[in-house]
Amino acid sequence: MTVASALRKKRRNLQSDRKANLHQLYSSDDVIKLYEISRNTLTNWIADGLPFIDAGSRLFRGSDLNAFHSRRRLKAAGEPLGRFLVNCFGCKRSHSLLEGDVSVSPGRTDGIFRVSKICPDTGVRANRFVCREELDTLQRLRETDPGSKTPD
Ligand SMILES: [Zn+2]
Repeated sequence: MTVASALRKKRRNLQSDRKANLHQLYSSDDVIKLYEISRNTLTNWIADGLPFIDAGSRLFRGSDLNAFHSRRRLKAAGEPLGRFLVNCFGCKRSHSLLEGDVSVSPGRTDGIFRVSKICPDTGVRANRFVCREELDTLQRLRETDPGSKTPD
C-alpha cells in the first residue's frame, strides 16, 4: 500500500479531514457533530491525548483538535513525529511544521527547499531544509489546514 492510499483510507476511517476553526471552543456535542463520531470515539480520542479544558463540562480548542488530527495523520502515514519538527533557536524548543503558518522558499541547492516557521513566542525564524519528496509529504499532511488565510 502506498503512503497516499494509506492516508486516504485512514482519513476516511478517522473522518479527520474535517477542520475545526482554530480560535473556536467546541463542546463535546460540537466535536461529535463536526467529525460525525460517536461519544465512544471522542472518549478514545481523549484517551489518545486530545486535550480539553475542564470548565464544568468539557471544552475543546479548535487548534488542539487540528493538532491532534495532524498527529494522527502522521501516525497513520507511518511518518516519524520528529520529521516535520523544526528546532527553534528562539525558545529552544521545537515547532511542528504541520500546524499554523509556514513559508516555503527554494534552497540554494536544486531540489532542496527551505520551510520556515516564525516562533510564536520569540518571533525568531526557524528553518528546516527538506527535499522535494519531503515537501510533497508535508504539503499533503497540511492540505486540510486552512492556516491563517481563513479570516476569523
Ligand atoms: Zn520557538
